Amino acid sequence: MTFASRNLAILGASGSIGHSTLDVVAASNGRFRVHGLTAHKHLKEVVEKARPFAPKLIVATDPDAAASIDPSTLPAGTTLLHGADGIQKLVADPEVDIVVAAIVGSAGLTGTWLAIDAGKTVALANKESLVMGGPLIMDLAAERGATILPVDSEHSAVFQALQAGRHREVQRVILTASGGPFRTFSQEDLERATVEQALAHPTWQMGPKITIDSATMMNKALEVIEARWLFDLPPEKIEVVIHPQSIVHSLVEFVDGSVIAQLSPPDMRLPIQYALSYPDRMPGSARRLDLGQSFQLDFQPPDLERFPALSLGLEVARAGGTAGAVLNAANESAVENFLNGKLRFVDIVAACRDVLKQHTFDVNPSLDALLRIDAWAREEIAKWVCT
Ligand code: MG
Repeated sequence: MTFASRNLAILGASGSIGHSTLDVVAASNGRFRVHGLTAHKHLKEVVEKARPFAPKLIVATDPDAAASIDPSTLPAGTTLLHGADGIQKLVADPEVDIVVAAIVGSAGLTGTWLAIDAGKTVALANKESLVMGGPLIMDLAAERGATILPVDSEHSAVFQALQAGRHREVQRVILTASGGPFRTFSQEDLERATVEQALAHPTWQMGPKITIDSATMMNKALEVIEARWLFDLPPEKIEVVIHPQSIVHSLVEFVDGSVIAQLSPPDMRLPIQYALSYPDRMPGSARRLDLGQSFQLDFQPPDLERFPALSLGLEVARAGGTAGAVLNAANESAVENFLNGKLRFVDIVAACRDVLKQHTFDVNPSLDALLRIDAWAREEIAKWVCT
């Protein structure tokens, strides 16, 4: 069988998902091509890494990094573009089939938005886009005929499991969580938790922001919100279960009691590849489940006392409106301050709850209002750090 190759635009090529996407492309036997990519601070590395892929466009989103590039060192045939205008040109390029939205944090919202506005298929790794503006983004996708395919491993699992039944037959969606490095820590241990301990994830190799989110379980809270909008599910149909091995990536229970799960070793190349090849499947480079060795799959309910982020996530998923943007921005800023030694580990979620409590809720915000409240929440965290 022959396939037409699909042209990709990778937004955020220097991060962990960006690297894994390039691995998937390299192993795809020409099925996928890199048409263009964006890079922020690590532009130089990205230019080098991208060389074998001969991209037509590279977008520099950080002016300082852009200034440090000698144009004569660009791969032959590559044009350098800049900033949000550059992203817009890249995602709207008629030659681009799929946009991989892999920029970390709220900085990824604009790129996701522009790609959807251009009516593209978006392989969405930037969960923050949906956490911040889920209803707006899903409405825009419907209006523009854009398709959003999940890259987040849990959501990819849910997306695959959902194909076993109809939407109205879904009883509940169960997102698995590894529990992170602090799964077995006592409350006292959590109060003394260091940056180094928080960055040592037991099963997944990821960037620092998501690794800290995994330690607080805020990552799962954000994923509940992401699932709520992506799959149009009421929050009461979304549950979280701790599964330390990270092999079952999530489960869907249907009304008849059947539970369908997706299993594979923890390796992001699989959900990335599925989003790129969908609706087809193809051989790839992701690690495979080895049933020649005995292994265990454990499941346990989450401890909401030690991991209060989970309840906060459910509250925000129920509230909708501006709540997601506030939680996301407060968390991003709190994580940054924790990494810089200015906030204790247990203060990350406490500060988020405090900022959420203080914000003026708007049930139906515009994109501009979301960006304004994002900035406001960051200022509030700054005050929290000083007191
Ligand atoms: Mg995930």
